[in-house]
Amino acid sequence: MSDSEKNLRDELFYTQKNGYDLIDTEERLELERYCGEYMSYLNASRTEREAVREGIAYAESKGFVPYTEGMPLTPGTKVYLNNRGKALLLAVIGLKDLSFGANIAAAHVDAPRLDLKQIPLYEDSELAYLKTHYYGGIKKYQWVTIPLELHGVVSLRSGGTVEVVIGREKDEPKFVITDLLPHLGKEQMAKAATQGIAGENQSLLIGSVPYADEGSDRVKLAVMSLLHDRYGITEEDFLSAELEAVPAFDVCEIGLDRSLIGGYGHDDRVCAYAELAAICETELPERTAVCILADKEEVGSMGVSGMQSRAFEAVMVSLCAAQKVALRACFWNSFCVRADVCNAFDPLYPEVCEKRNAAKINYGMGICKFTGSGGKSGSSDAAAEVVGTLRRIFADNGVVWQMAELGKVDQGGGGTVALYMANRNIDTIDAGVPVLSMHAPFETVSKFDCYMTYKGMKNFYKDR
Ligand code: MN
Ligand code: MN
Repeated sequence: MSDSEKNLRDELFYTQKNGYDLIDTEERLELERYCGEYMSYLNASRTEREAVREGIAYAESKGFVPYTEGMPLTPGTKVYLNNRGKALLLAVIGLKDLSFGANIAAAHVDAPRLDLKQIPLYEDSELAYLKTHYYGGIKKYQWVTIPLELHGVVSLRSGGTVEVVIGREKDEPKFVITDLLPHLGKEQMAKAATQGIAGENQSLLIGSVPYADEGSDRVKLAVMSLLHDRYGITEEDFLSAELEAVPAFDVCEIGLDRSLIGGYGHDDRVCAYAELAAICETELPERTAVCILADKEEVGSMGVSGMQSRAFEAVMVSLCAAQKVALRACFWNSFCVRADVCNAFDPLYPEVCEKRNAAKINYGMGICKFTGSGGKSGSSDAAAEVVGTLRRIFADNGVVWQMAELGKVDQGGGGTVALYMANRNIDTIDAGVPVLSMHAPFETVSKFDCYMTYKGMKNFYKDR
């Protein structure tokens, strides 16, 4: 092949390169620094409430203050609004007013898990259990025989709230959902994987020692008295509680080369943290930078803390009013990166993906032009110009990115909440970190992709 032929190929063909061939040592060190911080954030954020709390602590350390109606908003002002402890909006006021639109990044901080039922506690065969109801799309068989911990809040009859965390510390007990031994699992193993573990069998084993008296439900009484000693709660208090069983694995590096991160809840705290870190480093943006950490994405983004909530408008209309700008003008000129994870091509399961269009580990931030299923049904298909905007920003700033697609045509697919932002008349596109074993109790991402998503967010706030 002659040089001119080779040059013509370089000029005309789109070729993707492994990210590690595209960064220097200095950036490699920056990547490790960023990922170390992300790992700490993820370890401390096991629920949406904790992700919001950690987010606020981080933002306050970087100069953000609670937003109050009527406060002076000058370029560079950093504010946040805590939506009921379950969702968070941060903003850095831009040099241009909001009629020029805002640069919005929106991730979610809820993750698949097992919620306790409202009357969860029971005893069977002198073992005590808590009944659960799963939240989000899970493969139930993945949640048995792994250590689980319990996080959440109990709203008391007296009006106070008690925070519950059991199992996070190394020396604390964990919980488990048991499964059948293979020796007796012949019928279970012959079932479809969706049927192997029944939803009503997802009960946490929480105790086995009976209370020292002659009455009934002695083991239940013993564990209830332990809970009462620790939290001052009674069985009735479960009625107004929100308690979530989540995997008790610590976040850790994966691989001999330590290039991957394993942990619970990468979807979507990995994008939430990228946005958070990026907006905290944004000082005087041209356009106002907005970072949303929403709840309820895994169940449809409904409710007051979800992405469909008018809480978003409530804050934006208030910011606009302070600048005497109409909300409709602001939205018309805004741009939203709906920051969420995408599926990473898994060589163990190549049959569900189309290799040319699937996102690959270590190839950077994944941009998803559309999702949906069948003929893109239910998708907010981002316009070419919208993709083009990110493409230009990323090319100008050395952000390594790739196109992502959720599986082969007609393989399955899924909705996206991009449409909830787009329906508000805001140009919106999905972008985020490719994930292996998404929605499993222990998901895997690449450090390189985490870092590039953060770098992408930072430059989006700076240059759009
Ligand atoms: Mn997600
Ligand atoms: Mn998800």
